[in-house]
This record gives sequence, structure tokens and C-alpha cells, in this order.
Amino acid sequence: MDLFEYQARDMFEAHGVPVLPGEVITDASEAEAVASRIGADSGGVVVVKAQVKTGGRGKAGGVKLAKSAPEAATAASEILGMDIKGHTVHRVMIAAGAEIDQEYYFSLLLDRSQRTLLAMCSREGGVEIEKLAVERPEALARVHVDPLVGIDAEVAARITAEAGFEEEERDAIAEVLQHLWRVYEQEDATLVEVNPLVRTADGSIIALDGKVSLDENADFRHEDHADLADQGASDPLEARAKEKDLNYVKLDGNVGIIGNGAGLVMSTLDVVAYAGHDLGEQDGVTATPANFLDIGGGASAQVMTDGLDIIHSDEQVRSVFVNVFGGITACDEVANGIVGALEQLGDSAYKPLVVRLDGNNVEEGRRILSEADHRLVTLADTMDGAARQAAELALNPSR
Ligand code: GDP
Ligand code: MN
Repeated sequence: MDLFEYQARDMFEAHGVPVLPGEVITDASEAEAVASRIGADSGGVVVVKAQVKTGGRGKAGGVKLAKSAPEAATAASEILGMDIKGHTVHRVMIAAGAEIDQEYYFSLLLDRSQRTLLAMCSREGGVEIEKLAVERPEALARVHVDPLVGIDAEVAARITAEAGFEEEERDAIAEVLQHLWRVYEQEDATLVEVNPLVRTADGSIIALDGKVSLDENADFRHEDHADLADQGASDPLEARAKEKDLNYVKLDGNVGIIGNGAGLVMSTLDVVAYAGHDLGEQDGVTATPANFLDIGGGASAQVMTDGLDIIHSDEQVRSVFVNVFGGITACDEVANGIVGALEQLGDSAYKPLVVRLDGNNVEEGRRILSEADHRLVTLADTMDGAARQAAELALNPSR
């Protein structure tokens, strides 16, 4: 889960990373009061910053400096509602302005290929770091960090030295890096990025923009992380699926997918995409997967009903491909699940279903489905054949 900047700011503060005061608002009418509180009236500058989970807000006009509280209110009303790379701005943070002398870069992330952590640090921050990494890789220090050691004084000193900071500022930066390590470790993050990490005119080092990704696998030991989830952002179908404990991800296509096991569902998405590509565009429509849905081990009638119900609620879906490999849950149970689900859904089920069963008790499963002879169900023999049929049905649902 990626956090908003203001959430990262609060987390930084809680772990001793130096940040400037900042508060988030959702309505421009709150801006003046917050800006005054933060110092806009006493000659201070405040920054009004769009809170969206994408970078490059500055360039897009989503970061504005204001010299008074009314100016902050104007900036807030300009930024709220703005679209930044497809993200609508629903909240802004009003923060104390920094008098920036230098902008640096720091990040700590999981380096899966090396099975360790990687710290990256540069004296040339503020800019797009991906660009710097390509154009001037020597300006970006990369230091592997042993997760069992973390960033202690010694590792921090190595990072600041490799990044080429002047001797006199290394200690101050190293100190901040050690606090950022605490964020990474204690919050179970997979990414902590600060861009820019600034040196202000008075020489202090401050994290001015933070990005934090948390490891959801560790949610069980962070009760407070649930509050960080952005309810408004998740797709309504995904939210409903989550309530029903379904492992569902909404995609953009028109072939609904139900399978058991993440690997099988992933390859089902692939074969449907291939089949759709193969069939090509018809009347402006191409068959592509509409979702990922892994019903896991227990393909009971209830799970099938819930899954089919969610997929039926997706208006883009024109056909459904049920691809199940019977294991512990045998094909006959799955078949009964499908029949039961269609019974429960009754007339609200209207999208054609292509079912491919294989594995444990496949014969019995197929027999149950043929016997039920449901108007919407087509039985297929192979995964590729089924994918093609489902794709064809998505192009011509009436057939
Ligand atoms: P991003 O563009 O989404 O990465 O947003 P940032 O928070 O990094 O802001 C972009 C740029 O705005 C920074 O690199 C700074 O140059 C500038 N900026 C942000 N906050 C302040 C501030 O408090 N004072 C000043 N002078 N500039 C700021
Ligand atoms: Mn930034």
C-alpha cells in the first residue's frame, strides 16, 4: 500500500525524521485557518500541495507557494479538483514553507533480485530520479543495506560518503538516514523515499516530500495501518469483493475470469488476452480480461455465487470464463458450486459462461454440468479452446 505524502510526513515525524509542520484538508474553506496556524500570517511562506499518489506534482502545478493565508486559500481552491496524471485531487496539504538551499535525494527499498535492501542517495535531488539514474548514473550512489543491520551510524556514513556530500554536512544527513531506517524497519515498509531531502538556508536537513510503501503482508502487526487505506480510491467492485473475502482485481476488459489458484488465474488472463488479440477487433471491440478473481481452494456454491455476482455487476463484462483445476476441492464440488450459484442468481444471471474443468473428479464434474444443462453454460475441453470461446462470446454475446 502506497501512502499519501501527508501520511508519510506524519510517519516520518513519529520516527524522528525532521519534517515541517503540515496539515491536510479536503475543502478550500479550511485553508485560511490552517495556513494561519502554520505561520502564513507571521511572515512565513506556506506550501499548498496536492495529495495524490503520483510523482511530478510540482511540474503539474500541484505545488504552490503562498505568502499569506488568503493566498493559501486561493491556491487550495485551484489545486483541489485538479487532475494530475489521471488522479483527481481530493485533498491538499498545507505545510510550512522551507527556504531551500540544496535539494538531495534518498531512498531505501527492497532489492528483490539481490535479496537485500538498497539505499540510493544523490546530491542532485528534487529532479526526476529515474532520469538522473539513466543520464548520470554516477551521480546516484547505490549502497546495499543488510536488513539485519539496517542503517546504523557506520552504514549511514558509507552512504553519505558514496553520495559525495561535503564532510561538514555528512553527519547531519547520516543522522536523518538512521531515522528513515527506523521508519522502514518499524513500519514494515518496502519503500521509503525522500525527494527532495533538503538543506535549508539555516543549514538544517529536512524531509520535504516523502513516499512510503507498506508491506501488506505485515498488516497483522500494525493495527494502525488499516486507517491509512484510502477508502475513496478503491474500485467499488473491488471494495465489495473485499467484503466477501474474494481475491478480486478489476481490469478494463470484457471477459470475466474466475479460476482457482493465483497462477492458474494469471495464465487464464494471458490465454484470454491471446485469444482476444487473435480474434482482433470487431465493431470496435477487442476481447480482453475484465478481472482477476482467484476463488482459491474452496469453490463452494457460496463462493461461486459471490464471484459471479461481482462479475455480473461489472457492466463491461460480456462473457465469463470459469477455469478450474480440481485438487483438494474436486471438480464435482466445483460443478455443484456453479449450478448452485446460477440457481441462487436466477434471472439476475444473464452473461454466458464458458466452463473448463480438469483434474480431480473431472468426469463427475462434467456430468453434473451437462445434466444441469443451464442455458448460459458452455462446457469446454481445453483451456485454450475455452479462452477462445469466451473471447468470441465477448465479441458476439448474442450467439
Ligand atoms: P513532487 O513534484 O510531486 O515530487 O512534489 P515535491 O513535494 O517534491 O515538490 C516539488 C518541488 O517543489 C520541490 O522539489 C521543491 O523545489 C518545491 N518545493 C516543495 N516544497 C517547497 C517549500 O517548502 N519551499 C520551496 N521554496 N520550494 C518547495
Ligand atoms: Mn518530490
